[in-house]
Amino acid sequence: MNAEEVIDQFRQTGALLEGHFQLTSGLHSTVYLQCALVLQFPEKAEAFGRAIAEQYRGAGIQLVASPAIGGIVIGHEVARALGARFVWTERDSGQMTLRRGFTVSPDEKALVVEDVITTGGSTRETVDALKAAGADVVGAASIIDRSGGSADVSVPRTALATLKVLSVDPTVCDACKLGEPAVKPGSRKTAK
Ligand SMILES: [Zn+2]
Repeated sequence: MNAEEVIDQFRQTGALLEGHFQLTSGLHSTVYLQCALVLQFPEKAEAFGRAIAEQYRGAGIQLVASPAIGGIVIGHEVARALGARFVWTERDSGQMTLRRGFTVSPDEKALVVEDVITTGGSTRETVDALKAAGADVVGAASIIDRSGGSADVSVPRTALATLKVLSVDPTVCDACKLGEPAVKPGSRKTAK
């Protein structure tokens, strides 16, 4: 599956919208991503999972871990394709942690999987939680990298498709300067 095919799947399911958007951060962007809309179709999630797994075939991955909630569906599919175990991390008092009795064996070869990487923050925190638990974190992967390749997660990283998407303050937004109303994704209403 090449990057164009991945993006097509996102477009077809409304998971990738192009236009003029106000993100929850208040910043404006020409692209809006909602991975859950493509991952609601198990056969698509499975295909993305297989494509990510192909990049790590032969790497001896024993454990796949994802930050909750966004990474869980795709991480599970990657683990299935690699014949690996799957766990997730979640926040406990702000700290990304392995809970629910999940454990890691010493030097267990682990791969961290996310749906989309923007700054890489939750991926990096999951890498740190696994390392602290004793895992050998081999790499990190996502379906989409929207950092244009710049996100640093402290281990080697791959993505099925890379987007360079700028999010800007409304005061310097080109579309706003043209007088185009910004849309708040998730609602059909125009942002103020
Ligand atoms: Zn704008």
